[in-house]
Amino acid sequence: MLTDQLTRSGERRNRVGLAIVAAVISLALTSCTAVSANQSASTSGNSKPDTADGVMPDHTSAYDTSYPGIAKLDPDLRKAVQRAESAMKDDGIKMQVTTGWRSKKYQEELLTKAIRQYGSRKKALEYVADPNESHHVTGNAVDLGPRDADDWLSRHGNRYGLCQTLSNEAWHFELVTKPGDDCPPMTDPTKG
Ligand SMILES: [Zn+2]
Repeated sequence: MLTDQLTRSGERRNRVGLAIVAAVISLALTSCTAVSANQSASTSGNSKPDTADGVMPDHTSAYDTSYPGIAKLDPDLRKAVQRAESAMKDDGIKMQVTTGWRSKKYQEELLTKAIRQYGSRKKALEYVADPNESHHVTGNAVDLGPRDADDWLSRHGNRYGLCQTLSNEAWHFELVTKPGDDCPPMTDPTKG
């Protein structure tokens, strides 16, 4: 009886496996490389987020467009950050992009880690946005460092339209003003 059930579930698994193989083959035939790469990233289950999800090595420049984390940023935001990076360099500060664009999978992993760290989803959301709301996932936010670069940008970022938008994240910048205009008030994620 038990063996019978096991055999049957084994058969079912095989059938599901075949269906997945068929789906992957038809995808590979009909889609471009980029889409296939995304598909394999999102179907790889428990694997860690990687470069294709927006993970970047230390000291990544806003000019490193070979990384999806930079390439998938909103083009206007990317240009503004590149201009700021060059201007900072003239002032002797070497800026790096810690994160730019992130896949939903990467954002989900960050949130899962934060929930483990802070003990509740509510508290975690003060530090890591929901994957459906994160401006990193839409390519409209960058986290920059080191601290002297963040300080420089909090003083001069508005020249490029760049502003710190979250009061508890000195490293998080978005393109939210016209170059030269003042920055809008920041959002406080710890309230509400
Ligand atoms: Zn951020």
